[in-house]
Amino acid sequence: MRQLPGRHDEALLALPFFEPRHVDLAHTVDRWCDAHIDLWSDCRADTDPDKIGRRVLKALGSDGRLEFLRPDASDSIAADGDLRSLCLAREALAYADDLADFTFSIQALAATPVLRHGTDEQRRRWLPDMATGDLAGCFAVSEEDAGSDLAAISLCAQRVDAGYRLDGRKAWIANGTIAGLYCVIARTGDGPGALGLTAFLVPATTPGVRVEPVAAIAARSFCHLVFDGCVIPENAVLGRVGGGFAIAMELLERFRMTVGAAAVGFARRALDTALARARSRKVSSGQLFDLPTVRATFADMEVQLNAAALLVGRAAWEADRGNRNFGRHSSIAKLYATEAAQEIVDAAVQLHGAAGLVADSVPERLYRQIRSLRIYEGTSEVQKVIIANTIDAQRAERIS
Ligand SMILES: Cc1cc2nc3c(=O)[nH]c(=O)nc-3n(C[C@H](O)[C@H](O)[C@H](O)COP(=O)(O)OP(=O)(O)OC[C@H]3O[C@@H](n4cnc5c(N)ncnc54)[C@H](O)[C@@H]3O)c2cc1C
Repeated sequence: MRQLPGRHDEALLALPFFEPRHVDLAHTVDRWCDAHIDLWSDCRADTDPDKIGRRVLKALGSDGRLEFLRPDASDSIAADGDLRSLCLAREALAYADDLADFTFSIQALAATPVLRHGTDEQRRRWLPDMATGDLAGCFAVSEEDAGSDLAAISLCAQRVDAGYRLDGRKAWIANGTIAGLYCVIARTGDGPGALGLTAFLVPATTPGVRVEPVAAIAARSFCHLVFDGCVIPENAVLGRVGGGFAIAMELLERFRMTVGAAAVGFARRALDTALARARSRKVSSGQLFDLPTVRATFADMEVQLNAAALLVGRAAWEADRGNRNFGRHSSIAKLYATEAAQEIVDAAVQLHGAAGLVADSVPERLYRQIRSLRIYEGTSEVQKVIIANTIDAQRAERIS
């Protein structure tokens, strides 16, 4: 049984940001993580990220953790915009295991555009199998030369008699090696820059698609996708032609705060692990935790963790209450929480001394796993650009 305290901070769950159903969900996901301790051990032992990724996805699906992705789900997180639930789930999963959070979040990321913008036929065709974990999805927007600047996307979708023909590449795609469905943003050329982009749903079995696996700093399904004369029918268009940039931006705006939530989960695990170590480690004067500099480090970690969790809670609450400008809070939450988590994890390694660098120890794993959060779904620098751009509008709102 788990020796560490709970994966959520009960005092934060008691704040008015959350309703009783959110507290229930947080506890349910906590219990689910406890019941799958063996699976998390296998995640660490298995050297085949595709095989273990599929197992985690199937466990999430068969235990109902992805039910909210069903087209007809009554408490649909993605369709109803309940980002508080999504954030609390990611927080617990990230605390339990990197792959648990990764698999859950990428499946939600891939399914959400179908939920929000798909036709009834598209929703009925793809979402039920995504909710059971029988079908993995991925969201493919980045390219080698279009990461932070999505308006520079060059994957070409050319109109042909049978529909559209895709030629080009996508880069750094999470879950791409196991996905059966790719949600792809490509250039249809109906307008310049961002205006000429369209979203497509592309089955992985479509002739002309090739997967190039990429080994990442933390083992996971990760790849580039190559499209070479890949023809898809007209009904593969998701949303409207020319609406791809808006779909991608809306999705990222919603999911950035959830990256912050995952960062809170990783950081809380690091803090709990470091505290257990500092309490048990003997130094000449007593416990490591008694040393003033060590206590000061824990105070800093505690403040950062609280601030991060509060910013994530606020962002999710702003989105759920229908604030049209919630994107600003989503960026603030992602920026602060991921940067703070990086510092907290680094401090945990330092507090462990050499033991924190041993391969596959908890601090060493967290050290590798936390790094990508400051990059994906918009780098920290890009979040600063977004936040700065909203300052004037926010001030004007306060004055009026
Ligand atoms: C683990 C992981 C999973 C990912 N999963 C996916 C996925 O599933 N689907 C997908 O489509 N993509 C995915 N990505 C790609 C990710 O979204 C991009 O890596 C990210 O947007 C940054 O783009 P880039 O790597 O091209 O870096 P670049 O855009 O080249 O940035 C390089 C540096 O320049 C800075 N920079 C660039 N532009 C600006 C600017 N305007 N202002 C200030 N600084 C700037 C950046 O902050 C960064 O420090 C994933 C990446 C990682 C690491």
